[in-house]
Amino acid sequence: MSDPSPPVEEARAGKPKVALVGRQNVGKSTLLNRLLGAREAIAHETPGVTRDRVEMAVRWRGRAFVAVDTGGYVRRARGIEEAVARQVDRAVEQADVILLVVDAVTGVQEEDEDLARRLRRARLPVVLVANKVDSAAQEPGVADLYRLGMGDPIPVSSIHGRGSGELLDRIVELLPEQHEAQPEVDGEPAFAIVGRPNVGKSSLLNRLVGEERAVVSETPGTTRDAVDSVIAWDGRPLRFVDTAGFRRPSRAEGVEYYGFLRTVRAIDRSEVVCVVLDAQEGMTTEDRRITARVIEAGRGLVAVANKWDLVEERAGRYAEIRERLGVFPGVPVVRTSALTGLGVNRVVPTLLKVREEWGRRVTTAEVNRVLQQAQAEHPPPRGVGRLRYGAQVASGPPRFVIFGTGTVPPAYRRFVENRLRAAFGFDGVPIRISFRGRASRG
Ligand code: GDP
Repeated sequence: MSDPSPPVEEARAGKPKVALVGRQNVGKSTLLNRLLGAREAIAHETPGVTRDRVEMAVRWRGRAFVAVDTGGYVRRARGIEEAVARQVDRAVEQADVILLVVDAVTGVQEEDEDLARRLRRARLPVVLVANKVDSAAQEPGVADLYRLGMGDPIPVSSIHGRGSGELLDRIVELLPEQHEAQPEVDGEPAFAIVGRPNVGKSSLLNRLVGEERAVVSETPGTTRDAVDSVIAWDGRPLRFVDTAGFRRPSRAEGVEYYGFLRTVRAIDRSEVVCVVLDAQEGMTTEDRRITARVIEAGRGLVAVANKWDLVEERAGRYAEIRERLGVFPGVPVVRTSALTGLGVNRVVPTLLKVREEWGRRVTTAEVNRVLQQAQAEHPPPRGVGRLRYGAQVASGPPRFVIFGTGTVPPAYRRFVENRLRAAFGFDGVPIRISFRGRASRG
């Protein structure tokens, strides 16, 4: 019973889960079938009837999720109390969104209240579904369900299909964001070396690929003239995108070759970007423009302060560059001299480390621990609701969705971001956070 059939197992891989919770006979099984499509709707009016399917893969408006009937798991529980507790635990453990299904005709029962009370403590969005509203005449009964404190009930008729579109809309709205198309973190690492003309990009690349490490191949990139350099590093390939012009300066079309458009293209094709600065000049406005673009593109960032051999006031210059980076704390600054070789051997390890952070995933439990601790120390400002729960929904770059309140002032956003950084690292990596309002109100 609790073992889903293989096709479902396959279909559910990586998909968000929606758990149906509700006391017996409210119509969970019928609703589950209704979500899948009218043609498979089967009504079980007999209490405790054996269900042969407890999980179904559902698609709606281009989004896919797996609907799970958790009620099917608890029939062996001793007593209603235990059944309710087990059902809720089960749902919370596996789901991204919970549907609390109640029977609008019989109205709120003690068991519904018990379920609602337990679900209010769960850190997950809950949708209250008023089932068996077969016609508009039955809608007034729905009003009674507000006392469950789960927000607006959605009236549906699982048997007739009434309201299922609205319910599906609400469900997909609450699903975690799907992974966006991003460069694959498991492929070979792809780095870009960018910066203003004359800061030492070519010299640096020649140091990296030239002497001790052989160039494995030069692979054509996406555009005809964007030729990448692939080097062997500890026996594994590393790609530096669009470096043709660096390695053979004669082919470069002067300053224009490294123009902003070309830089933007290289950034987009890489995972982590090495922004090379002339340390003598420090961090200029143009350098800041380039770093801003790296962050905007969601790439990892490493700053290389090159020509360090020429810097006299070293401590001051280093602090100044760090400060003027002006993005977020923790971006590595590597001091190098492409001329003498100073510090050059730290460039690739730093790029690899940032790439690892860029592709990292942290568990929902860890995220929630950080959110709770952060709020205990420094609660959201007056008028801003509590952040109830959150999760990392993507990596490369890391994205978090935090539920509770949609209107978080910038200072508190930064505070939350900094707490996530303090807990998880993410050095050199931009973090995306979206705050969403209370899920039960939609
Ligand atoms: P690119 O335009 O960024 O590729 O810069 P290049 O690599 O062509 O370097 C520009 C000039 O700076 C050349 O004359 C290099 O020899 C010089 N240069 C590059 N790196 C260093 C460095 O670390 N120290 C010093 N003193 N000169 C450097």
